[in-house]
Amino acid sequence: MRIADVSEDIDHELVSREQIDAKIREVAARASEDYRGKNPLLVAVLKGAVNTMVEFSQAMSIPVQIDFMSLSSYGSGTVSSGQVTVRQDLSVDVRGRHILIVEDIIDSGNTLAWLVGELKRRGAASVEVFALLSKPSRREVDVDVKYAGFEIPDEFVVGFGLDYDERYRNLESIAILKPSVYQGE
Ligand code: 5GP
Ligand code: MG
Ligand code: MG
Repeated sequence: MRIADVSEDIDHELVSREQIDAKIREVAARASEDYRGKNPLLVAVLKGAVNTMVEFSQAMSIPVQIDFMSLSSYGSGTVSSGQVTVRQDLSVDVRGRHILIVEDIIDSGNTLAWLVGELKRRGAASVEVFALLSKPSRREVDVDVKYAGFEIPDEFVVGFGLDYDERYRNLESIAILKPSVYQGE
């Protein structure tokens, strides 16, 4: 789905598909060098990071394994808290593995900080992070992001996996919604 297909709901496009593709290819090239010979396990949090995971893993030039986790983070509305529960766990043992977390967006940093800590507690050999998007102005917890994509302003974005109320995940680029979309519900 393109911006034009939902133009009545979209204020403007923030990151084009060409920009997304170029950034993912660039980071994948760096990560491929860093992880050569290490048989890395890429871990993504469902569902927002799925698009990034698919494109990123395909752009890597070394063999990788992929796995997914479903987390729920309690908090009000669009803000998450540090309290995270696992809804669906990984299917592999991470002990001794080199893990690269693939994230859609870091907002407060709470979800990611919890996940990094949890994977280390489980005995991972290393845990690093690739986040396609980051809102630095919203950070509550410091998280070390080895591979950073785009820094964006404090606005709620949708597309390329990211949803508002489960909608717009299949938008091919990243965009800011019109306030009327939230106010209407
Ligand atoms: P954090 O724990 O860093 O505050 O929240 C991270 C999660 O909140 C993301 O993985 C994503 O699911 C959601 N989130 C944060 N900001 C946005 C946003 O601008 N748009 C959407 N669709 N989800 C967001
Ligand atoms: Mg996420
Ligand atoms: Mg969501």
